[in-house]
Amino acid sequence: MTSYLFCPNCGRRSDNGLYDGFCAQCFLDRFDLVECPLHLVAKVCTTCGSFLQNGKKWIKCDNLSISTATVRSQLHINPAAEEVNISFAPQTLGGNMRVHVHVDAVVKGMDVSKDFDVDVRIDKRSCDRCRLIAGGYYEAIVQIRAENRFPTADERSKCKDIAYNMINRLQKRDRMTFISEIRELKEGIDIYVVPTYAGEQVSKAIIERFGGNFSRASKLAGRREGKEVYRISFAVRLPQFMVGDIISIGDHIIEINSMGKRIIGTNLKTGIRFNSDSGNVAGADLLGHRSDAKTTILTMVQDDDIQVLDPDTYEPIILSRPAFLRANGGDEISVIKTRSGIFVLPD
Ligand SMILES: [Zn+2]
Ligand SMILES: [Zn+2]
Repeated sequence: MTSYLFCPNCGRRSDNGLYDGFCAQCFLDRFDLVECPLHLVAKVCTTCGSFLQNGKKWIKCDNLSISTATVRSQLHINPAAEEVNISFAPQTLGGNMRVHVHVDAVVKGMDVSKDFDVDVRIDKRSCDRCRLIAGGYYEAIVQIRAENRFPTADERSKCKDIAYNMINRLQKRDRMTFISEIRELKEGIDIYVVPTYAGEQVSKAIIERFGGNFSRASKLAGRREGKEVYRISFAVRLPQFMVGDIISIGDHIIEINSMGKRIIGTNLKTGIRFNSDSGNVAGADLLGHRSDAKTTILTMVQDDDIQVLDPDTYEPIILSRPAFLRANGGDEISVIKTRSGIFVLPD
């Protein structure tokens, strides 16, 4: 004798209680594959576009990913579902977002799917970092100055690029790393940063690029909640000389080719490479810069001597031939006129 079960919903015969006593159709009709609120809110920073994930952590994200992440965090898939496949199709809707959700799964051997739309309202506010920046908060100042001169426009813009690049890199590990202000001064630039470590890294990167040095000082700025608060400053000193400068050290006339812990240059009288600890050029004199170079005619090459025309007076001048000179009589060459005489510049 065979016993049958009957679906308590529709009365049709059901199969061996496989579907909780219902027939397959009524089981599926009652099965909730996915639960999700149809209206959600995403908190997004007006200034930097960061998004507050799970109400805890601000992360960098674009609007499409923000809406998808918001929906994903609120999606509950029925634990009875297997081989679950979820796809999101976000779209902008005015200032807000709408995400179409499609879920595929297998339940008790049957294919099931569900489609629905979730509206995500973008709630604009300020993130933790932008609030601090707006409040002028900083932990260290990087003060960039130059030895016996003011930094050039080019050095200033390169220092700022270096600072932004370094901060962006450090921000990937710690989002509370930022520049809160950059002040342009006649004597240099002050970069206000958080945290102190970022100020040190920026200082190191600048002297790696330009040479020079930096020192660190801390000053008691007051007390907060019973603790002493220190303001740290990094005094970065760019070297007195720059790449392209023509300097005289003793009898040598050197064009500086690179600056760092060591100065690499070319001796303009002999053509021999110059390589010295940057501390050794502290007493050198600045004669000019490559940008002051003029074009003239090399009129004659004879053994170790050459004859060039003074670019201003066209008077012929005899110089000793530097090793780098490959030009022949009649060729145009670059020279620099200084108070110590005229020198041929390498190409
Ligand atoms: Zn039924
Ligand atoms: Zn922000």
